[in-house]
Parts: sequence; structure tokens; C-alpha cells
Amino acid sequence: MKAEPRARTPDRQFVIIGAGMCGLYQLHKLLRMGADVTVLERGDDVGGTWYWNRYPGCRFDSESYTYGYSFSKELLAEWDWTEHFSPQPENLRYVNHVVDKFELRPHIQFSCDLKRAVWDDEHRIWTLELADGRTLTCRYLLTAIGLLSAPTMPRLAGMDSFRGPSFHTYHWPKEPVELAGKRVAVIGTGATGVQLIGAIAGQVGELTVFQRRPNWCAPLHNAPISAAEMASIRARYAEIFKKCDNTPGGFIHGPDRRRVAEVPRGERLAFWERLYATPGFAIWLGNFRDVLMDEAANAEFSAFVADKIRERVTDPVLAEKLIPKDHGFGVQRVPMETGYYEAYNRDNVHLVSIGETPIERITPTGIRTSERDYEFDLIVYATGFDAVTGAFDGIDFVGTEGRRLRDYWRDGPLTYLGLQVAGFPNMFMLAGPQSASLSTNFPRGIETVVDWASGLFEHVVQRGIHRVEPTPDAQAQWTAHVEEMYQGLLLRKAKSWFTGYNSNVEGHDKIRYMIYNGGAPRYRQRLAEVAQQGYAGFRLG
Ligand code: NAP
Repeated sequence: MKAEPRARTPDRQFVIIGAGMCGLYQLHKLLRMGADVTVLERGDDVGGTWYWNRYPGCRFDSESYTYGYSFSKELLAEWDWTEHFSPQPENLRYVNHVVDKFELRPHIQFSCDLKRAVWDDEHRIWTLELADGRTLTCRYLLTAIGLLSAPTMPRLAGMDSFRGPSFHTYHWPKEPVELAGKRVAVIGTGATGVQLIGAIAGQVGELTVFQRRPNWCAPLHNAPISAAEMASIRARYAEIFKKCDNTPGGFIHGPDRRRVAEVPRGERLAFWERLYATPGFAIWLGNFRDVLMDEAANAEFSAFVADKIRERVTDPVLAEKLIPKDHGFGVQRVPMETGYYEAYNRDNVHLVSIGETPIERITPTGIRTSERDYEFDLIVYATGFDAVTGAFDGIDFVGTEGRRLRDYWRDGPLTYLGLQVAGFPNMFMLAGPQSASLSTNFPRGIETVVDWASGLFEHVVQRGIHRVEPTPDAQAQWTAHVEEMYQGLLLRKAKSWFTGYNSNVEGHDKIRYMIYNGGAPRYRQRLAEVAQQGYAGFRLG
């Protein structure tokens, strides 16, 4: 007869991986519950995204006052944002302020690079193995490892041979990088490259941008926040967060319920002009609802934005190279720009379309394309991330009966609510694939998940439950629902991280259903129902 499993006492009840926005909030909640918890962070300080990404121009694309945590009135009352879209140094100061205010730092262990996590079903504990050989056991393993935290480099010959400095934007050095007078190459024109290019065009000697496919970018319209504006924002915080709660993306911008064809052409052009002049994601998320769903509506709006690019770029041949031809506006993440198109009007900025003249190799002195050799002092790779699942693939998670997460997810993630995976009991993904936090203004999404998960943790701790795992049925239904939510959207046809594509990673050349497109309100509703039904879909034992 098989012996009854006996829960052994682990070193810690809860271990959170990652001290970014998500992990820190979960830490705060668990400490308030009186739980035994520690955070393992691979960096040497807090901040996650805002710790690593230090490239010039890095800033929020969310309105600053919608990005901060909403859980503490005191925090809201004392923190002043200085810009509508706050820059990285200020964001990192904010995270540190939160950590100090809520006395979180003593509960965080730095330079802890988790390499392997193995579930022991007999004793109901996870054993965590760090890169430096240390181990730690815990009952509950909570991942807050980021969705864009596994940077990917191109696979180009000669990359190690370049004699000057070269790095991915995610690894932009902490020390100041000398740009004045330098010949700089930037490879990649996603949201990161576009921020960087706009910021450094006027600082460097020569800037050469290597563009594979152009993106549809839109003006951010950043501006300082005056003391009077900050006072007004502070007085309206409740209203602002309520508004974010009611939009699909957790932003202050929600879709206009009208369809393009319902609005006379003159009126819709005037509406689009207003959107183009509005700060932030209004142009993407506040547009007519069919722009992201219907080919004809999308084509008409894309033509409107293409004309804006033509107006802003003086060389008509260059303008055409900057206008995407293979996808419509907004079906990939819209990079928000500050002077991006105008950068190409400068004499010191050059565009190389590597669709026409591919990069052949990196040389000791620069980059060789099929057309010619270029010499550089610095090469920056703004080539994106092995998004969402990359950070998970970087850790060897071993579940019941030796199931390995990276194998189990080879063709795409399988999850229940984006929170748990069958075969991986007691592991909770606080910002996991297929949860709404990934497709939402991040802090709004993670507050939802962390609040809900904390309720579940309280429930199981109070009842002495030692094991939580989703049923395979619940997982299959959720994964099918996630896939279904892609069907009405044009983004399903685009090759971007929303659909799991990355040319730099073996096997990531077909669609994988990474994000939840059903909207934050629907996701919250679903979570609430699951809890009300006694955590339906989870096996608690
Ligand atoms: P990305 O959107 O994936 O863009 C990567 C860029 O590099 C693309 O232009 C891509 O070209 C190019 N590229 C990749 N591999 C290449 C190769 N082998 N050769 C040549 N070009 C290559 O990555 P990202 O710009 O880092 O942005 C990722 C996400 O981070 C964004 O979508 C956004 O969610 C987030 N982000 C947020 C903020 C913010 O909120 N403030 C700022 C920056 C980024 P193709 O298009 O042809 O693949």
C-alpha cells in the first residue's frame, strides 16, 4: 500500500522569485499576512524591469500616475511624479521608495540566480537550486520573473569579434556610456529601439539604424507635471484607478464603441487627428473598436498614420522605408516615440533597411551588410526578448513525475488562469503567460493577480492545505479560452511577441498563445467566480 504523503517542514513557507513591481507587491501582502516569506532576486538591487533597462530614453509608456501602486493611500499621497511618462531613473527611485517605506529590503536576498526548482510530491516542497550551488526549500514557489526579462541577441557571425563595446539594451551599463562624437549602430526598431533612437540622435556623432521591419509608432507627447497638476491628479486618484479598472487594458484609454464605418469620414478624420495629438496609448487603445479587428477599418487608419509619417520625414524615399507594409497599425505593440521620425531628418542619422541589404556579419570594426562595410565605435542590440516564456525556460522547473516545464510548453504555454500549470503543484506564476497582467498596464494587472492569489494563500494556510494544483480539465478549458480570445483580433496574424514569435530563438517561428486578450474586467470577473466557487478548477489537498 502506498504511504500517505507527509508534508515536511520546508526552510520557508513562501519563496518569491524576482524583486520587480510584481514580486515586491506580493512580498508586502504576504508580510502583512504574517507569512514566512523571502524573495530571491538575481540582480544586486530591486526594480526588475526598471533596474535592468537603463538605456537612454527608457521611460513609461503608461501615464505615470496609472503605473504606480494603488494599494496605499499614504504612498499615493506622498509620491510626486514629475513627468506624465516618467523616465527610468525616477521609476527606479519610486521602486526603492516603496521598498524602504514598507520595509521590504530585509526580506530580499540579492544575486540569487535560480537555475532549477524540483517538486517533491511526497513531502510537498519545492527545492530551489541557485547558480552558486546554494539550495533552499519552500512550500509555495511564486514566480515574478518578468515577461520581458530574457533578452535575445541576433544569431550573427562575428559578434564576439567586435573590438568596441556592444550590448543589448537590457544590459545597458550602469556607468555612463560616452556617446558624444561616437559612431553608433542600433539594431532593432521595436518600442525599445524607438525610445533609444529618439533620445540619442542629437547626442552621438553618427547614428546608423539597422531596421528589419518598420513599426507603426505614435507620438508619446510627454510633458512635465507641474505641482498644480500633481495636486489635481492626487485628488482624482480614486477616479483614475476606477477608470483603469473598467478598460480592457487597465489604462485610462478604453476603446471607442463606434465602428469606423458608422462615423462620417470628416468626423472620423477629426477624431484621428485628436488621437494623434493625445498623449499616450489613446491612439492605440482609445480608437474605434474595429480598428484592431477589421482589415478594412485597420487599413484606413493605417493609411492615416502613414500620411503622418510622410509629413514628418522630409525625404520621401526614407519615409516609405519607415512605413510598415507587412502589418497594419496596432496589431503589434505600438512603440511610443519622442522625435523618432524627426531623428531621420538629421544629417547624422542613417537608416539601413536590412530587409533589402541583410547584415552578413559583425566585423572587428563594425557591421558588414550585403552592400558594404560600416565602421562603428559602439553597437547596441535593441533586438527584444524571448518574451513571457523565456524567463521560465531559463529555469529548469521539474514537476510531478519528472515533468519539465520547458518541455511541457515546447509548443506554447498551457496554464490555468495564467496562474498555475498542471503537474507543477504549489507553483504560482504571478505574471504568467495567459494571465491578463501581461496584456494590461502592468501594475494594474499584477495588483489584481497578487490580491487574488493572496486570498488563495490565506485560504490554504488557514486550512492547513499543503498542495494546490489545477485539474487538467480546467487547464485545457482555460488554454482553449485564451486561444479563442485571439480569434477576433488582427494581432493573431502578426509576428510579434504577442504571438510568441522570435527569430532569434529556435522553434519560435509559429504562433503561441501568450497573452490573455479577453480584457482585464473579464479576467477579474473570472477570478472572482473561481474563488466564490471554492477555487473551482484547483485541486486543494
Ligand atoms: P521588440 O518589440 O521585439 O523589437 C525588437 C526589434 O529588433 C524589432 O525591430 C526586430 O525586428 C528587431 N530584431 C530582432 N531580431 C533581429 C535580428 N536578428 N536582426 C535584425 N533585427 C532584429 O523588442 P523591444 O523593442 O525590446 O520591445 C519589447 C517589448 O518591451 C515591447 O513590445 C513593450 O511591451 C516593452 N517595452 C515597453 C516600454 C515601455 O513601456 N516604456 C519600452 C520599451 C519596451 P522585427 O520587427 O523584424 O522582428
